[in-house]
Amino acid sequence: MISILTCIGTRHDPWLVTLAMVICLIGARATVSLVRHAAVERGSVKYAWIFFSAIVIGTTAWTAHSVSVLGYISDGPTWFDPTLTIGSLLISMTGAYLALVLASLPAPKAAPALGGALLGLTIAVMHYTGMLAYRVDGIVRWDPHMVAVSVILSCVLCAVALGILRAQVASRRRDLSASLLLVAAMLAMHFTGMTAMKIVPFGPVQPEDANEHVAALAIAIAAGLIIFAGSFAGLIDSRNRREAGEQMAALALVDRSTGFPNRAAFRAQVRERCQSTPPGDRFAIIAMDIANMPAISEQFGTRIADLVLQATGNRILQARKQGVFLARTGEARFCGVGRVTNRAEMLLRASKLHATLCRDLLIEGIEIAVDIRLGGVVYPDDAAEPELLFGKMQAVLARAIADPLRPIAIPDEVADAFARRRLAVSAALRGALARGEFELLYQPQVRITDRHVAGYEALLRWHHPVLGTVSPAEFIPAAEETGGILSIGEWILHTACREATCWPEHQRVAVNVSVLQLRQPDMAEQVRAALAASGLSPDRLEIELTESLLIEDRSRAHHVLRQIKALGVRLALDDFGTGYSSMDVLRIGLFDKVKLDKSFVADIETEPQACAILRAMLALGRELSMPILAEGVETDEQLAILQREGCDKVQGYLTGRPMSVSMIAARRDPATARA
Ligand code: C2E
Ligand code: MG
Ligand code: MG
Repeated sequence: MISILTCIGTRHDPWLVTLAMVICLIGARATVSLVRHAAVERGSVKYAWIFFSAIVIGTTAWTAHSVSVLGYISDGPTWFDPTLTIGSLLISMTGAYLALVLASLPAPKAAPALGGALLGLTIAVMHYTGMLAYRVDGIVRWDPHMVAVSVILSCVLCAVALGILRAQVASRRRDLSASLLLVAAMLAMHFTGMTAMKIVPFGPVQPEDANEHVAALAIAIAAGLIIFAGSFAGLIDSRNRREAGEQMAALALVDRSTGFPNRAAFRAQVRERCQSTPPGDRFAIIAMDIANMPAISEQFGTRIADLVLQATGNRILQARKQGVFLARTGEARFCGVGRVTNRAEMLLRASKLHATLCRDLLIEGIEIAVDIRLGGVVYPDDAAEPELLFGKMQAVLARAIADPLRPIAIPDEVADAFARRRLAVSAALRGALARGEFELLYQPQVRITDRHVAGYEALLRWHHPVLGTVSPAEFIPAAEETGGILSIGEWILHTACREATCWPEHQRVAVNVSVLQLRQPDMAEQVRAALAASGLSPDRLEIELTESLLIEDRSRAHHVLRQIKALGVRLALDDFGTGYSSMDVLRIGLFDKVKLDKSFVADIETEPQACAILRAMLALGRELSMPILAEGVETDEQLAILQREGCDKVQGYLTGRPMSVSMIAARRDPATARA
């Protein structure tokens, strides 16, 4: 080592050594860039890039060598053999081409290292051929050990450099390491090689001028080649970078209002981490949702809501640990992706975040409470595949949002299966109406005295190609959550009114409405439009609603219901006996009918108390002149009790299951039609 440093320090012109180093740096950098291009191409284009890379690295090694040799302070007069000098350049380029082709082969695994070793050997052969061209008037002796060291150094360093280039995805740091290794290989080879050489001069001889000129010209050409290739690669690189930048913008990876990376960027990041996380390592996704954002918007307006979003984003940024990727993935949702060692660490981070983010915000003098819900998943423990991981994350967050007592949720197989199903139902609901997946079935409501059908209750059915037939008990809450119930509800009204016009005049149709529908200021107008479009007489339409609907927003609901009643439409109180069963609701005189809930009817055979309540209810109905219908009647015994106690109507599997309009038409008997 000392002898090498002495050789560089005492036997070389420092300016020319510096120049050689600069040439090596430029050439190695350009080579790495060209090899990267070759790696992503196929067929002849790939080989063209390899050829180009070989010219650059071949000339770089040769030029650096020649410049250093020119700077070598010999003990005697020297000159160059032009044929061998040019020959060494050709060897350098040809060998480099073969080496880079070998390194680019898909198999064996060691191909990059073998290619690198061949490149190192090529540089060595070029060097010693070049040294044969270096004529000196004296005896040249070689130290075989140093020669061996120079060849080994060159081969090993080049093998590592090409190994890095082939094994890993491009990154500024990796490319720089590979470039520096190539520079090290060329310089180590050269200076160890020069240290191996000892010259014993014969006497003073004038070198031939022409030779010096040839060398100078050759070096100038070679340097030009490198600079041209380097700038070409640089140009392509910058064009690629510009294209990548444009692509980023086109994909809109940034959320404009917060400046955070958006959902697409987040998904790309998670996919990338799933690929690059080594076995045994873990990363966590923590999703954060401002659950009360709709309420904040409603109460303070969208401008303040935007400020709340930004303030929460800033808090998340401040709380961020190094290396955590943050994105805004939804309306009021942020996601963080970062390394963790285990689930406990993820939970700890989530609870710290929760504590930080839940503090009240002071925005424009207004104190605003933020309700933050968090869901966390860990790769690969919860899922080793990006799409599954996203699914789990959504399910976990949905659970955290739904459960006010547990604002932080982590995967729980049973709970998440429900949440996933709910998410799947919500997603599938979108467009279900347009795809014609809904159907209305009608369940007869039968007069107990003569068993005649007084009307039908319209019950919605959803047939989904993958999920199958989904119960309204499952999809109606989902449709209410997404707001989809509004258009579905309108369709139900129109369809039920239209189909009921085909039934005998005395038969009514009962339509269920949800709380969201009743909140629409134009609900009465929708009902009027459905009646007008179908030509159904208003007194043949009955709207069913549950008691909870009246409790939630009493004055607004009463107003809408009165408007509907003013049209001549009847109102029925559904599921009585399950909720508050408030007598108040009956007192307001809005309802034309009360429907006793099926859970209540189920017990009248066995429980004397249920029977006593039934009796009292029926007496109340008579007092208020309000007919009572019992739901869910399944047995003859139940029917007999209800008849004995003076119930007006029944609905249940015993008297008829929900059926399609065509089935109703087929079943219609002359006796029913006459009544
Ligand atoms: P609901 O309005 O109380 O409807 C009665 C439910 O009881 C129906 O369930 C019906 O099929 C079922 N049923 C009828 N007879 C019997 C019986 O003898 N035994 C038993 N065990 N059940 C019986 P379905 O169709 O599954 O509907 C469930 C709920 O979904 C409905 O309860 C209603 O609240 C809601 N729903 C159904 N259709 C609509 C709709 O078009 N719009 C809205 N907003 N909600 C609807
Ligand atoms: Mg009903
Ligand atoms: Mg009911």
